[in-house]
Amino acid sequence: MEKIKMTTPLVEMDGDEMTRILWQMIREELILPFVDLKTEYYDLGLENRDRTNDQVTADSAEATKKYGVAVKCATITPNAARVEEYKLKEMWKSPNGTIRAILDGTVFRAPIIVKGIEPYVKTWKKPITLARHAYGDVYKGAEMMIPGPGKVELVYTAEDGSSVSEPVHQFKGAGIVQGMHNLDSSIESFARSCFQYALDTRQDLWFAAKDTISKKYDHHFKDVFEEIYEKQYQKEFESAGLTYFYTLIDDAIARVIKSEGGFIWACKNYDGDVMSDLVATAFGSLAMMTSVLVSPQGYYEYEAAHGTVQRHYYQHLKGMETSTNPVATIFAWSGALRKRGELDRLPALVHFAEVLEQASVKVIESGRMTKDLALITTLADVTVLNSGDFIKAIRAELEALL
Ligand code: NAP
Ligand code: MG
Repeated sequence: MEKIKMTTPLVEMDGDEMTRILWQMIREELILPFVDLKTEYYDLGLENRDRTNDQVTADSAEATKKYGVAVKCATITPNAARVEEYKLKEMWKSPNGTIRAILDGTVFRAPIIVKGIEPYVKTWKKPITLARHAYGDVYKGAEMMIPGPGKVELVYTAEDGSSVSEPVHQFKGAGIVQGMHNLDSSIESFARSCFQYALDTRQDLWFAAKDTISKKYDHHFKDVFEEIYEKQYQKEFESAGLTYFYTLIDDAIARVIKSEGGFIWACKNYDGDVMSDLVATAFGSLAMMTSVLVSPQGYYEYEAAHGTVQRHYYQHLKGMETSTNPVATIFAWSGALRKRGELDRLPALVHFAEVLEQASVKVIESGRMTKDLALITTLADVTVLNSGDFIKAIRAELEALL
């Protein structure tokens, strides 16, 4: 079989620990035999980030702006223990945070649905994609302990020195206070990324906040979405038969639970933090969640939602066999290859991405799976495979389907 041609390179961001091992296996077994792979490779493994003073992370994000599509392996976000473990020069920032700041994107997470791994919510038939605004609110809040009676106010001082104030509370005793902010530019980017991704994936978009209580702050989010929708996206949505609607966050929860799935749910930062874990858990497994960062300019970075699976890596280093689930990382590759194929008009590459996903699903549905899935499956006859054998089973299926 002739290998499938590519015209533009993918930005390939390698990573750490167990997922770095899976990354190599996926390349060797599932990509290279079939695709004449073109990538621009960036090693985001922690050692190389340290060696380059984290320049490699910024460079990989800039390359994503140049080429448009990236695929990323999970990476360690250093903490004090990692600084010690890897003898780091500094506690480097989260690579995902750095990349997101450069691409100004929104993260969309969606579960991979297979028969035998059933959602806890019986009505859910299709994936629910969760879009989380990743800037501001309580994550950039200022907080104070209030020791006793006194007055708290919000004060805005303009550059010309004029100011406006708003009382927060007249304290009669001790308490607490919090101030938070967001930016029109960030909310607008968030809204555009959501509308763009809804059109791309042909799904309805829901957005929810609490504008009945937060009449300025949350209401402003609602207004920004509404304005951008009407100005820029409404026509395209209507001609694609898609809907956008806003509802209150508590109403959204009720509708989500009663829904069939198959839509994008856009959430403010905190709601998104909580709801993405809820949706991931309710769909069955973190190892089956995909994640894509979409910028308002239309740059895409695909990855798995889980981390580097450190515990399994230490077992692997001890020479023990591990049964780590590579499916979300495989779907990061297929997502990136499909997007590359769409942008470059390469139907063979798009088809390959589809078949790679089908092959992965088929292997699981045939009862061959990694241990994490074996523990939760409703299938009766199950064979637990190690990561390598599972990937080889997918390769055999892929060869048969191609
Ligand atoms: P994790 O890597 O997501 O793993 C947590 C646990 O979830 C694992 O120990 C394992 O459970 C299970 N798990 C996750 N993915 C799995 C898979 N593919 N197959 C089977 N089981 C899976 O989170 P962590 O251990 O808290 O974090 C490890 C490192 O990842 C940290 O250094 C963190 O900074 C980094 N991280 C990176 C990203 C990213 O790059 N996007 C995201 C999150 C975390 P059992 O141990 O029970 O088998
Ligand atoms: Mg969280």
